[in-house]
Amino acid sequence: MKYDHIIVGGGTAGCIVAARLSEDPARSVLLLEAGPDFPDFTQLPDMLKLGWGTVNLEARAAGSPYNWSFTGQATPEQAAPMPVPRGKALGGSSAINGQTFIRGAPEDFDAWAAEGNGGWSYLDCLPYFRKLENDADFHDDFHGTDGPVPVRHHQRETWPALQEAFFQAATAAGYPYHPDVNHPEATGISQRAENNIDGVRMSMALTYIAPVRHRLNLTIRPNVQVNRIVLEGRRAGGVEVASGGDTFVVEGGEIVLCAGAVASPQLLMLSGLGPARQLRELGIPVAAELPGVGQNMRDHPNTTVRFRVKDGVPEDPNAMRALRLRYTATGSATPHDMILSPASLNTVVRDDNPAHTVNCGLYLAAGQGELWLTSADPNAPPAMNYRYLENPWDLERLREAVRLCMSFLEGDAYAPYIEEIIAPTPADLETDAALDAWLRRNVSTSYHISGTCKMGPDNDPMAVVDTRLRVRGVTNLRIADASIMPDVVRANTNVTTMMIAERVADFIKADG
Ligand SMILES: Cc1cc2nc3c(=O)[nH]c(=O)nc-3n(C[C@H](O)[C@H](O)[C@H](O)COP(=O)(O)OP(=O)(O)OC[C@H]3O[C@@H](n4cnc5c(N)ncnc54)[C@H](O)[C@@H]3O)c2cc1C
Repeated sequence: MKYDHIIVGGGTAGCIVAARLSEDPARSVLLLEAGPDFPDFTQLPDMLKLGWGTVNLEARAAGSPYNWSFTGQATPEQAAPMPVPRGKALGGSSAINGQTFIRGAPEDFDAWAAEGNGGWSYLDCLPYFRKLENDADFHDDFHGTDGPVPVRHHQRETWPALQEAFFQAATAAGYPYHPDVNHPEATGISQRAENNIDGVRMSMALTYIAPVRHRLNLTIRPNVQVNRIVLEGRRAGGVEVASGGDTFVVEGGEIVLCAGAVASPQLLMLSGLGPARQLRELGIPVAAELPGVGQNMRDHPNTTVRFRVKDGVPEDPNAMRALRLRYTATGSATPHDMILSPASLNTVVRDDNPAHTVNCGLYLAAGQGELWLTSADPNAPPAMNYRYLENPWDLERLREAVRLCMSFLEGDAYAPYIEEIIAPTPADLETDAALDAWLRRNVSTSYHISGTCKMGPDNDPMAVVDTRLRVRGVTNLRIADASIMPDVVRANTNVTTMMIAERVADFIKADG
């Protein structure tokens, strides 16, 4: 068996790369996905299909059949391991995610370019953001209207009372209203863009793969786990996979790793590509020393303020999240490093406690974590230490975010609705030290892990891929997923991952 292109992992990026490369009938494309595939929409399980309400949260719950159910350490103060969900089905994390559809800020990509990643400025990336979307509400030079991914916003007349209260509180505090969150100049409070149509989560399996399944040059193999990349010297020649209890080797002209920011570095290390000392300790022969693999682990640390509402406040069965507030922390040189989002469902699920919430997120943390192999066994999950809030600047900004959120919740806009703020308690808020301790106990992942195989210029020893996403030190191997981000963008990561995938498909086509 030999294919021109083997795509490892059918998640957000893998679905896009497979769909774009197979546009050329002369290319044979094999898409390998460890999880199941549901080619018939009527067979798609509700927890993958329904993106509103609470049913969609079942897919990401620990132990769900569509979740790898990794764990990591958030801070030393948290004794219990933090759940780290990643999607395991065709569509990957886009099949279990929250469908927030927000591009990175222009400053994110301009910073990547300024670090030596030529060709990755905002203006370089903009055509790809336009190419992938079909925005029903905003039509201008920044938006796409004929891409595969449908994008919608909740119009103001549909906002539940608690969303309207958040809007009133934020505008009363002086934040401007800019409805289009994906406009490059948007700041303040905006409508949250969403890739959800009539309650259906528009995953990359539905948007990119469903329309092209008939292609004879595209082979999709679900329930196949890649164990390692087969290297012939320094050339990637294929992959070793586990399928139905047997092991196979499949040959490929080029391998594109799209296994996500946990599994892509894991697969590199299992193949002998990574920090040499770590690999030797596990008895893995070193094929090429790449010290950056698994380092630079980025995410958006967040915490959740929780409150109970008065009797009679209407429930919202769809748990609509219509808004978000992007602002710049006091004294910050990086604009829009903070996001407040009302009624995030994350902690409801984590704590099994039906409180209403406002999520406070640090969207450009100074700190970073790391990921490493614990075993040469491909079935052993890697270890992850997020090291949240070790940097005092991160702690200071998240503390300010919680106090800002409290000022909203204790103000006039919310007065008709709030019975009691449950967390943090008045004692937690009494001093900065008390609040810092509460934050360390209650900070968690936004599910936006990225950066673990970062892109960088030739003079960066920690760069894992070059600016055309080729893995350094070997040939015929690229990575295209959330792991290549040099730093996490100031936004949820799915749209930026889509853009990366769209770009690598063009790189591959151009490179022959
Ligand atoms: C619960 C949750 C909620 C989120 N909410 C949002 C949101 O609302 N908005 C947003 O923008 N972002 C959100 N994100 C983040 C976003 O979904 C991810 O950044 C994005 O999907 C990453 O895409 P990827 O291609 O890098 O990885 P993934 O989409 O995770 O794809 C990796 C794929 O590789 C497969 N794979 C892994 N290892 C192997 C192997 N050895 N062999 C074969 N296949 C393998 C996996 O099964 C998976 O299908 C969320 C993520 C999660 C988990």
